[in-house]
Amino acid sequence: MSSIASNIASTLNLIRDAEQRSGRAAGSVGLLAVSKTKPVEMLREAYEAGQRDFGENYLQDALPKMEQLSELEICWHFIGPLQSNKTRAVAEKFDWFHALDRLKIARRLSEQRPTDKAPLNVCLQINISDEQSKSGVAPDEAAALVAELIKLPGLQLRGLMAIPAAGLDQAGQLEAFARMRQLFEQLQALAPQMDTLSMGMSGDLVSAVAEGSTLVRIGTAIFGARDYARPQD
Ligand SMILES: *Cc1c(COP(=O)(O)O)cnc(C)c1O
Repeated sequence: MSSIASNIASTLNLIRDAEQRSGRAAGSVGLLAVSKTKPVEMLREAYEAGQRDFGENYLQDALPKMEQLSELEICWHFIGPLQSNKTRAVAEKFDWFHALDRLKIARRLSEQRPTDKAPLNVCLQINISDEQSKSGVAPDEAAALVAELIKLPGLQLRGLMAIPAAGLDQAGQLEAFARMRQLFEQLQALAPQMDTLSMGMSGDLVSAVAEGSTLVRIGTAIFGARDYARPQD
């Protein structure tokens, strides 16, 4: 087994284990492989191991890889922050966008989504740890935005995404994810079509599953550390 295949297998084991320990149905949590900055050969290896959902953060890094892998049946997720002058590539080429936090971006994505494609799946990013430097809407501003997002024909609001503050201990992780779950349940009253809670990364996956994540976004544990500079879009 290649090391990527075995990393995927151990990540899936961790997820299944955490599902079972928190009384959740087997298979209720999906795995998004975060391949940002990693070469196309590594994505191919993951694909051959059965992985189908891939997450990318930087357009300049993602688009050439998507081109090279266009014959594969990959579901592409854009998970990084997006400037309004870069929305077109996401609207045209991706299946999901996880970091939506402004109506202006949402309107552009909806307008630019090709009509021969299904609406773009989106998650509203919530600033759950209230850090000034991080993106995402404040929890108390989410309902107003959800009310607008569900009107946009080119988008399908699938749920919420969050990245809690780095360096939390397990109790802190659980507390942040529990607040996400409560907010998600409240907002489902406004938008019952929401079925996705995108939370959990390599360092906090088990806590995220315990608190209701339906999709974990895993980079380092599958592909190894990212050792070169972050490309600029
Ligand atoms: C990079 C990244 C991940 C993956 O993080 P790891 O710690 O490498 O698993 C998940 N989500 C987002 C939004 C990211 O930018």
